[in-house]
Amino acid sequence: MDLSDRKTRAVPTGRSDAGDAAALAEVARRYATAITPAMAELIDPADPDDPIARQFLPDVRELNEAPGERSDPIGDVAHSPLPGLIHRYADRVLLTLHHACPVYCRFCFRRTRVGPGGAALDAAGLEAALAYIDGHPEIWEVILSGGDPLLISPRRLDRVLGRLDAIGHVGVVRLHSRVPVADPSRVTPDLAATLRRADTAVWMSVHTNHPRELTEDAAAAIARLVDAGVPVVSQTVLLRGVNDDPAILEALFRRLVRLRVKPYYLHHPDAAPGTAHFRLSLAEGQAIAGALRGRVSGLCQPTYVLDIPGGHGKVPVGPCHARPDPNGWTIADPKGDLHSYPDDAGPSECD
Ligand SMILES: *Cc1c(COP(=O)(O)O)cnc(C)c1O
Ligand code: SF4
Repeated sequence: MDLSDRKTRAVPTGRSDAGDAAALAEVARRYATAITPAMAELIDPADPDDPIARQFLPDVRELNEAPGERSDPIGDVAHSPLPGLIHRYADRVLLTLHHACPVYCRFCFRRTRVGPGGAALDAAGLEAALAYIDGHPEIWEVILSGGDPLLISPRRLDRVLGRLDAIGHVGVVRLHSRVPVADPSRVTPDLAATLRRADTAVWMSVHTNHPRELTEDAAAAIARLVDAGVPVVSQTVLLRGVNDDPAILEALFRRLVRLRVKPYYLHHPDAAPGTAHFRLSLAEGQAIAGALRGRVSGLCQPTYVLDIPGGHGKVPVGPCHARPDPNGWTIADPKGDLHSYPDDAGPSECD
């Protein structure tokens, strides 16, 4: 894989939170750092709170490790039967071909494992992973995830997809990628055509957190995917100082739906080491998700989810609109006004 064109940008001088050079060097020693030209161009050096800079440029606050933070916040390691595989839910498995990303997000939940130096899965490792998938007929969906699957060459991706296509019980392959946004020129028509398979539905999930990331070039890359017949969804991490504002999320999700992308998940930030400055409380997240409910259509609503620390899985944690009461339920409408809903089948738990 040739990542030589992806230089790490120096932190622009004059940022109030940039800290001193030695501390930043320590951040870069602990965690991989890279930004693509497409993302670097979006940064306003005059804005100390620039939401793009905040996502990709190292920050001395990353040296602070808060109680409760862990190097494996969502318990991937406990569910890894083989190198490159995480099998936490029976019907789907995560396949990681390598550890490189086009950018290194400062809040990444896999930040202690991603980076340009990590060993990629070799030919024998890939065969073992494919044999595991082949030997587990309950696996219906294979998710290629960070390291970014769109950083491998289209030819190699074509071979991997062809192998998965040949496994009868695999119906869906999902690619989680930052590339359509962070390095859109990599999404060539050839690559998009590679993602259209005979027997397997290949879905793309793009990671994007701020409407400014969805430039004309990113929009064109997404259009190449959708026009090639690839369904596209999005994943967004709710981040303090980046998008913790219903107006910003509204702009992001409206733009995505206009680009024919269905917002899929809004992730509560995971407790990865050195990321406390990005985290907000669940109550704050619920207030933001609740505010969105009244502002935008259902198409623009992702599910707000938390990955339970320790590997217990992802669950919706959005605002609860229904509460049991002695007569059935009390239901909150989008404005927050309460309504009684008698339910003859009897009260049950709120979802
Ligand atoms: C997030 C995740 C998935 C996918 O979960 P969905 O809810 O289907 O998007 C699968 N496996 C692992 C290990 C995950 O962390
Ligand atoms: S692209 Fe995904 S895996 Fe890579 S650094 Fe960002 S969040 Fe982590």
